[in-house]
Amino acid sequence: MICYNGQFTIFSVGAILTIVLLVVRLTIGIYELESAGAALLQTDINYRNFVESSLFGVFIEQNGRLVYVNQQVESIFGVNPGQMLGKPLANYIAAADQGRLKEQFLSISDVNHTTRLHVTGIGAKQSDLYLEMQASGAFYEGQPAISGTLLDVTESKLSEQRMIQSEKLSVIGQLAAGVAHEIRNPLTALKGFTQLLHKSANGNQRYYEMMLTELERINYIVGEFMVLSRPGQLSQLVSYRIGRMLEDIVPIMESQAILTNVVIQVEEQPNVPNVLCEVNQIKQVLVNLMKNAIEAMPAGGTLQVCVQEDEAKDVLIEIVDQGVGIPQQVIDRLGEPFYTTKPSGTGLGLTVCFKIIQAHGGILSLRSEPAKGTVATIRLPSEGKQSSLV
Ligand code: ADP
Ligand code: MG
Repeated sequence: MICYNGQFTIFSVGAILTIVLLVVRLTIGIYELESAGAALLQTDINYRNFVESSLFGVFIEQNGRLVYVNQQVESIFGVNPGQMLGKPLANYIAAADQGRLKEQFLSISDVNHTTRLHVTGIGAKQSDLYLEMQASGAFYEGQPAISGTLLDVTESKLSEQRMIQSEKLSVIGQLAAGVAHEIRNPLTALKGFTQLLHKSANGNQRYYEMMLTELERINYIVGEFMVLSRPGQLSQLVSYRIGRMLEDIVPIMESQAILTNVVIQVEEQPNVPNVLCEVNQIKQVLVNLMKNAIEAMPAGGTLQVCVQEDEAKDVLIEIVDQGVGIPQQVIDRLGEPFYTTKPSGTGLGLTVCFKIIQAHGGILSLRSEPAKGTVATIRLPSEGKQSSLV
C-alpha cells in the first residue's frame, strides 16, 4: 500500500510536471503567435498606408482585370472611386499603345521579371496623359497577378514640347524676317507687270495664268513668313467673341467645304467670355485649322467647331473632323515648317497657328486617331485672365 502510495506520488508528480511544462509551452506559443500576428497586422497597416497615400499610382491586375488600384491611379485617370475595378487597364490606354501593353503584360511570367514602358493614357475628357509605367509579376490572394506603378509625366512632357516648339519658332522667325521682307517688294513688281502683260498679250494666255498662279503661291508663302517673322508681342489687342469670328469665317469656308460634301456645324456655349486678341491673326488660325480639317475629308463628312469656357476660365475651341487622321510619326513633326504630306501643301499652316496661339498666351494641341479623325484644340486665356499679359 505504502509502495502503491509511493508509486502514485512519483507518477503524479511526473504527470503534474509534464502538464505544467505543457501549459507553459502553450502559453509561450500563444504569446509568440499573438506577437507574430500583431507584427503582421502592423506590417499590413504600414504597407497599406504606404501604398494608399503613394504619389505613384499602384495597380494590381489579375486574369486581365484590375483587382486593386490606389487613389492616385483614380486621380490620374479622373475616374470615380472603384470605377476601374473589374476592367482591364488597357481600357484606359490609347488604342495605339494597347497592343504593346498587352504584349508586355504577357511577357511577365515570374515575380522576378520587371518591365518599364511609356504609354499614352486617356484622361478625363479624353485628354492624352503621358505615363511612365513599371510592372512585374506578383501574387494576389494566392493567385498569380501583375502589380505595377504609374507616374503621370504629362505636365513635364508638355512643357518640354512647348520649349522645343518655341525654340524652333524663334529660329524660323529670324530666318523668315530676313527672307520675307527681301522677297515681298520684287514680288509685287513681278506680279504687277505679269498682270499687265497678260491683259495686253495676244497669245500664250495659259502661260500667263500659270505664272500668276505660281506668283500667288509665292505671295501666300511670303505672307505666312511675315506672320512668323513678327515678334512675339501683340500690338493691336481688342476684346472679341470667338463666335463672332466664326460668323465671318464659316460662310467663306463653306464654299470650299461644299465641293467635297463637308458639312460645317458650329456649337457655341452661351456666355463664353471674350478674348483679347489680334482678330486677324486668330481668324487666320481658325481658317488654317478648318482648311486642314476639310482637306482631311476628301470623301465628305462633318466638321464640328465647338466653343466653350472650361473650368480654368479659359476659352476652349475644338475643331473636330472625321477625316483620315494623323499617324504618330506625323504627329511628332506637326508645326515643323515645310512639313507637309499633301502634294500641293506648304507645310506652313500649322507653324503659323502655333506661333500665333503662343503669342496670345494660349496652347494649341492636336489629337488624332488614324481613320477616325482629328481634334485640334485651342486654349486661349479669357479676357480677364489675359489682360495681365498686355
Ligand atoms: P499643309 O496643310 O500645307 O500640308 P499644315 O502645316 O497645315 O500644312 O499641315 C501639316 C500636315 O499636318 C499636313 O500635311 C497633314 O499631313 C497634317 N494635318 C494637319 N491637320 C490635319 C487634319 N485635320 N487631319 C489630318 N492631317 C492633318
Ligand atoms: Mg494646312
